[in-house]
Amino acid sequence: AQDSPVPPAPERERHGELVELIQKYRAAYYNDDDPLISDAEFDVLYSELERLEGLHPELASNDSPTQVVGGDVSVAFAAVEHLARMYSLEDVFSLEELTAWLAKTEASVAKLHGKSPQWLTELKIDGLAVNLLYRDGVLVRAATRGDGTTGEDITHNVATIKDIPQRLHGSGFPAEVEIRGEVFIASADFIALNESMVAAGKAPFANPRNSAAGSLRQKDPAETAKRPLSMYVHGIGAREGLSTLSQSETYELLKSWGMPTSPYFKVLSSFEEVLDFIAHFGEHRHDLIHEIDGIVVKVDDFGTQRALGHTSRVPRWSVAYKYPPEEVNTKLLDIRVNV
Ligand code: NAD
Repeated sequence: AQDSPVPPAPERERHGELVELIQKYRAAYYNDDDPLISDAEFDVLYSELERLEGLHPELASNDSPTQVVGGDVSVAFAAVEHLARMYSLEDVFSLEELTAWLAKTEASVAKLHGKSPQWLTELKIDGLAVNLLYRDGVLVRAATRGDGTTGEDITHNVATIKDIPQRLHGSGFPAEVEIRGEVFIASADFIALNESMVAAGKAPFANPRNSAAGSLRQKDPAETAKRPLSMYVHGIGAREGLSTLSQSETYELLKSWGMPTSPYFKVLSSFEEVLDFIAHFGEHRHDLIHEIDGIVVKVDDFGTQRALGHTSRVPRWSVAYKYPPEEVNTKLLDIRVNV
């Protein structure tokens, strides 16, 4: 009677198909920087897998795509272990789902501390995550996210990005700190880059995210140096001797060290303010210098973040609201037509 029920054959079969497809699409996206389908199409498959596993939890093995951080380490790069794990983010696709997440998280925080959390609300930059390790204020290593435990060593490539200081400004740095952020190509730079690719007889990139990933993951750093890469910081990993108490306070400190921080983050108290932030950037997303695919909400206080913890794939103190998909970049289509 203790045995878990075996899901019906059609569900098992569909599950196997979805896992296989998602693994194939993840490999093209993360390893080859060359997606086979759009993000919206990918998200539909991924949501179906989550739903199926919700109905039949026994299908969700530890290596299911719903349980692991997507990404791998290519043989073209040396593998490096992150000091603290890197995670993905839980996605929500509607304001109702977001409000439910806020309410659930507020209730957990109230149980822990007897008060409501402050919500650090910021833009979800459509780029790729990079982990920078600074020892005594000096950049000693840079890595991609990889599978969250092990990333690719891209130290020499990152050294070509002007936004990223090799040495932090000021003094009194922690002995060791991992600073995480998003490397991206600004929208205007993306159009110019694709035009130059086409002029050189090469295929244009599908979108700014893949152009950033492809540019950063070049074997030859001299190639990366030619690409217009930018970065904004959005997190912190291992930290030894760092005394800040919240994510927003840390952003201010990182800014004073010369790290590139986004000008758009806000610390908000109510659900209404979070929803207003989402509505505002929904209307103004094309006025920004980089593409966004959503908004990220984080519990600001580090102590509360620690208390809420993580699943095997995502932090429980953060969520990504994804805007509905938009039409294809017409500038890119123009370029393709001209090829
Ligand atoms: P994700 O991109 O949804 O969220 C996690 C990532 O968001 C982090 O690792 C970080 O890099 C980034 N991020 C950007 N701004 C951030 C901020 N302010 N704070 C914190 N993190 C921030 O998760 P994922 O696991 O990397 O990938 C899933 C995404 O990739 C989905 O959007 C999916 O559509 C896309 N994807 C597409 C394909 C495809 O074939 N088209 C395949 C795989 C994945």
